[in-house]
Amino acid sequence: MTGIEPFVFPGLRSRVIFGEGTIAETPAEIARLGRARPLVLSTPNQKAEAEALAHRLGNLCVGVFARAAMHTPVEVTEAALAAFRERHADCVVALGGGSTTGLGKAIAVRAGADQVVIPTTYAGSEMTDILGETMGGEKKTRRDPAVLPETVIYDVELTMSLPVGLAVASGLNAMAHAAEALYAPDRNPVISVLAADGVRALVRALPGVAADPADRHARATALYGAWACGVALGGASMALHHKLCHTLGGSFELPHAETHAVVLPHAIGFNAAAASRLLEPVSAAVGGSPGAALFDFALKLGAPTRLKDLGLREADLDRAADIAAKNPYSNPRPFDRAAIRTLLQEAWEGTRPRQ
Ligand code: NAD
Repeated sequence: MTGIEPFVFPGLRSRVIFGEGTIAETPAEIARLGRARPLVLSTPNQKAEAEALAHRLGNLCVGVFARAAMHTPVEVTEAALAAFRERHADCVVALGGGSTTGLGKAIAVRAGADQVVIPTTYAGSEMTDILGETMGGEKKTRRDPAVLPETVIYDVELTMSLPVGLAVASGLNAMAHAAEALYAPDRNPVISVLAADGVRALVRALPGVAADPADRHARATALYGAWACGVALGGASMALHHKLCHTLGGSFELPHAETHAVVLPHAIGFNAAAASRLLEPVSAAVGGSPGAALFDFALKLGAPTRLKDLGLREADLDRAADIAAKNPYSNPRPFDRAAIRTLLQEAWEGTRPRQ
């Protein structure tokens, strides 16, 4: 025994620009990739911002596709791909949250397009090689190096408009990536350090964002935390928490960030005793047993704490447990369908976790 756990560190692969006003770097970053015909992507909600970016890119931009939607429906990807091909685009610029990033990844994997991602939430998808897509009501997720964005531009300015409710839920979504990376069997020292720092940053920042949405320092700290947690998601495998949220989002259409916010204290509480040493950075940041303290943290910030408030019916809990227990995956604490069913009931009711 050397006292150092053996590990594999695959390296960090995306170029990252972080700061305020960094959206101005977009043309230079496109040129750096040797590209000249970007298609700008956004959700309908952020169409105005996407058009402003297209205007900034001037002749360089071949158009805006503003129909990105949550959980990357394949029909939307096909329409975007048609626009990409018709306009002879040679790269995508995804401006928005995880939904827009997902669309960019889906185009990249089909057309070999380079991606510049400008994230405006804390979802973290921009730092991962993970793509989840929905077809016929079923969500399928894969890991593929071809979906990893080439360049990510974090601009604090663009996050100032993120409504407090979504900022808090999205921040908890980011913390979930870090918490599961800390106990992942394929963790490595770089991921563990970033995951711990990401959690600390978000625990510091989110109360500041909630108290004063115009607090630039809090917004910047939250975005830094989101980057660190996103790297953690991209660099380690995920367990029970992510599988549950994947099931609830993919099969029951629950909103992504809010679902993570509700499930996180329960999944971490479930794993707390089995991974107490590895979860120490979370316990230290939130100040207590990790599941219970995360629950209190979320409650104080006004985040949703009950699956029933997100539109899940109690009658759906059995099917959700069936789906989440179907495929085996590693988790610090062994579980069976009955354990998942109990956890889901508690998350549905909003019971405070014991640990
Ligand atoms: P989202 O991208 O759907 O954004 C939610 C809403 O907020 C949208 O209407 C969006 O336009 C708006 N919005 C975003 N930023 C804003 C801002 N700064 N100001 C005002 N409005 C803003 O939500 P999300 O939680 O970021 O992403 C969820 C999606 O991302 C899901 O499909 C999920 O599966 C995916 N995701 C994937 C990964 C991965 O690694 N593959 C990781 C995390 C999330």
